[in-house]
Amino acid sequence: MAARIDALMMDYPLTLTHFFERSRRLFPKKTIATRVPGRPLFRYTYADFAERTMRLAAALRALGVKKGDRVATFAWNSHRHLELYWAVPLIGGVLHTLNIRLSRDDLAYIVNHAGDSVVFADASLWAALEGLRDRIPTVRRFVIMPDTPDAAVPPGLAEYEDLLAGTAPITSWPELAETDASGMCYTSGTTGHPKGVVYTHRAVFLHCLAQAMTDSFGLSERDVIFHMVPMFHANSWCVPYTGVMVGATHVLAGPNPQPRDICEIVQSEKVTVCGGVPTVWIAVKELVEHDGYDISSLRCIPIGGSAAPRSLIELYDKKFGASMTHAWGMTEMTPLGTLSRLKSYMLDWPEDRQYAVRARCGYPSVGVDVRIVDDDGRELPWDGQSMGELQVRGPWVVGAYYDNPESAARFTADGWFRTGDVATIDAEGYVQITDRTKDLIKSGGEWISSVDVENLIMAHPKVLEAAVIAVPHPKWVERPLACVVPRPGERIERAEIIEFLRPKLARWALPDEVVLIDAVPKTSVGKFDKKVLRERFKDWTPREA
Ligand code: ADP
Repeated sequence: MAARIDALMMDYPLTLTHFFERSRRLFPKKTIATRVPGRPLFRYTYADFAERTMRLAAALRALGVKKGDRVATFAWNSHRHLELYWAVPLIGGVLHTLNIRLSRDDLAYIVNHAGDSVVFADASLWAALEGLRDRIPTVRRFVIMPDTPDAAVPPGLAEYEDLLAGTAPITSWPELAETDASGMCYTSGTTGHPKGVVYTHRAVFLHCLAQAMTDSFGLSERDVIFHMVPMFHANSWCVPYTGVMVGATHVLAGPNPQPRDICEIVQSEKVTVCGGVPTVWIAVKELVEHDGYDISSLRCIPIGGSAAPRSLIELYDKKFGASMTHAWGMTEMTPLGTLSRLKSYMLDWPEDRQYAVRARCGYPSVGVDVRIVDDDGRELPWDGQSMGELQVRGPWVVGAYYDNPESAARFTADGWFRTGDVATIDAEGYVQITDRTKDLIKSGGEWISSVDVENLIMAHPKVLEAAVIAVPHPKWVERPLACVVPRPGERIERAEIIEFLRPKLARWALPDEVVLIDAVPKTSVGKFDKKVLRERFKDWTPREA
């Protein structure tokens, strides 16, 4: 019998402590900046960041934060928020990033459900939290962060800078297990309450390594990263961790950033990487075209959260020299799932075919297994045609929702997470999200992808935004209704849209009607909010079909 092999590699824990200490040593001169309205950017170095993070860690201890305690943030993107991103998990706490745009009821529910003990809030956002104080009894302390130049600290509350000034830096980090919780984020529930996802050090560690790979975001020490994705949206796409891990230069978006702030900062700071949801890039496009900003320093714009229109990817390439990379992910996946990079042999393909690939959601990141299954749970082929529920598994995929009895229904018997997205996968492994299950339109016996139709409409030169929803129909069950926002100064007729779509869509997939609206309603993280549109048009009377 062969001897048992017991001479193995070290059992070294995959914790964020390693990344922090390494970057503190290697990149002390690199800089981190925050946008302050009406003032030049606030800048400091990684050395400052590290020192302050170590003070914050000691201060958190002094506030009584112990291993496993939830520490919440209610804040815009800033260097202070970044300090919290690191200090909380490094002392064994769990960073809970609250979405500042949620309703009061949802916020109260989430804070209580998570059992947050301390909340760090931006001064400019305090008014939104103050009224909740009586409803969130688990919170022992509030700390106010001075995010704007005129920020005032409400009487009786601790101030972040005072806290740091009055505390000496921590001298050593606690030993953590890689399976310890590091953070948590709630995803918006379509029915019922939002659900909590708890990240572990190991999940974030491995996700950072994968995200930095050349064929992923390709993050490097040479990058200038603009953090525009809210730090409360899906772990801020993990970039606050990966970006510090690689030693990149950082600019954080500060309070209430507007599309013009993005244009100005990208141009002046020569930003190379900046992620965002499609609606943001649609707004930025208008300004860049109109006012001639130079955003060509952007070598990688990770775009996702909802489907990126192909026309947008093409336009950014051709007009702005800025390259978009379409990605798909979820809060439940830390969040990276797939990313659309061309394979080397595709570079010889005709342009049209290349863009068709880049407009898909991409192939799975290393570390992520994907499959599509039919209603009976049978796996479907990767043929680009078969459409089924997308299921995933991997070291940074949620294993269970936090304290949620309904959690089990989202997992299959053989241990895969059911994403709730409907997708195809082609023979090259590129995933295409057809729709969220609830957004698919069932017309007669056919499924219509609302995403496909709206992305085609958004390729029309007079269209700014378009969302396609299902409206009830007596004969066909549901029919597509296109809600279209014209570009500023443009007039557009229904027939123009329909004629534009006619050669590109099957007859039954053509929207029955086009309504012009002022703006597509957005969710708390800037995605098209079709729930609101469905409600608005629920009594829509269909034309005779
Ligand atoms: P929320 O549920 O609040 O929108 P998430 O950002 O976690 O929060 O949402 C993840 C979902 O967003 C995915 O399940 C998918 O439906 C959608 N999504 C993310 N990226 C893409 C993409 N590139 N194309 C289409 N849908 C996407």
